[in-house]
Amino acid sequence: MKIFVAKDAGYCFGVRDAVNLAYTTARKHGEVYMLGHIVHNENVVRDLEKVGTKVVESLDEVPRDKPVLFRAHGTAPDVWNQAREKGLNIVDATCPLVIEIHEEARKLEAEGRKIIIIGDHGHDEVVGIASQVNDPIIVATPEEAQKLRKMKRVGVVSQSTQMIENVQAIINILMTKVFDLHFVNTICFPTKRNHEQIKELASMVDVMIVIGSFTSANSNRLTQLSLERNPNSHQVTCADDLAPEWFAGVETVGISAGASTPDKIITEVINEVRKIGKIKEEEMVYG
Ligand code: SF4
Repeated sequence: MKIFVAKDAGYCFGVRDAVNLAYTTARKHGEVYMLGHIVHNENVVRDLEKVGTKVVESLDEVPRDKPVLFRAHGTAPDVWNQAREKGLNIVDATCPLVIEIHEEARKLEAEGRKIIIIGDHGHDEVVGIASQVNDPIIVATPEEAQKLRKMKRVGVVSQSTQMIENVQAIINILMTKVFDLHFVNTICFPTKRNHEQIKELASMVDVMIVIGSFTSANSNRLTQLSLERNPNSHQVTCADDLAPEWFAGVETVGISAGASTPDKIITEVINEVRKIGKIKEEEMVYG
């Protein structure tokens, strides 16, 4: 049996930097506060809690002498203003690629366009993008796009982790409804790479394993892409979720992981699959 591991499986650089910043800040100040979880992964959240990170609902819960970390997927301007007014020590972990989406949305609005954001309703990143412009429309699916009225001038950006297929389907519908449409493809390059790799891997291996929390939209999307190409695709949160019968008579296994899955869990899953399949190191392939 051979294992193929997707080259860019796991943390994107935005999440990796934010998690590292949370660790260093917590160690330096004893505690660091954040509004919501830094990544959608229970294991990471647990480990971070051990070193002193605290998740709060509002800035009122942050002590004056402790830092507050703004997460990778962006923070609304009114929260920034509130934190500044309170004189809090802000540690900014916003991913530069999310900042780019904010800038693109503002630029499109400055051209006199109504803004449409292709993304998941209520997702923190989408809420952050929406807060940059006036009254944007959020569209998650082609069905929602179909319900929109005709419009004159529209600017479209997308959440960084969207699947290109969903974005394309929505844009096709918007083309029939909007006279002057300007779309900026703001799916980030780590997402594009991760999606391309899983499509390729899932089509060539006998069994595909996707590692990621079921609370992570990004991991669930990877599983969806994999299942569309390979019915023998399984999402696991950790090595304990692996079922030996998935690998009976199997020659090739592909492994990938969502952008919020830490390296440690990826390594544990790879090692467990190696044990189940009695695989030697030379049978591992990366890339
Ligand atoms: S998914 Fe993309 S935009 Fe979001 S944090 Fe990672 S690199 Fe940045």
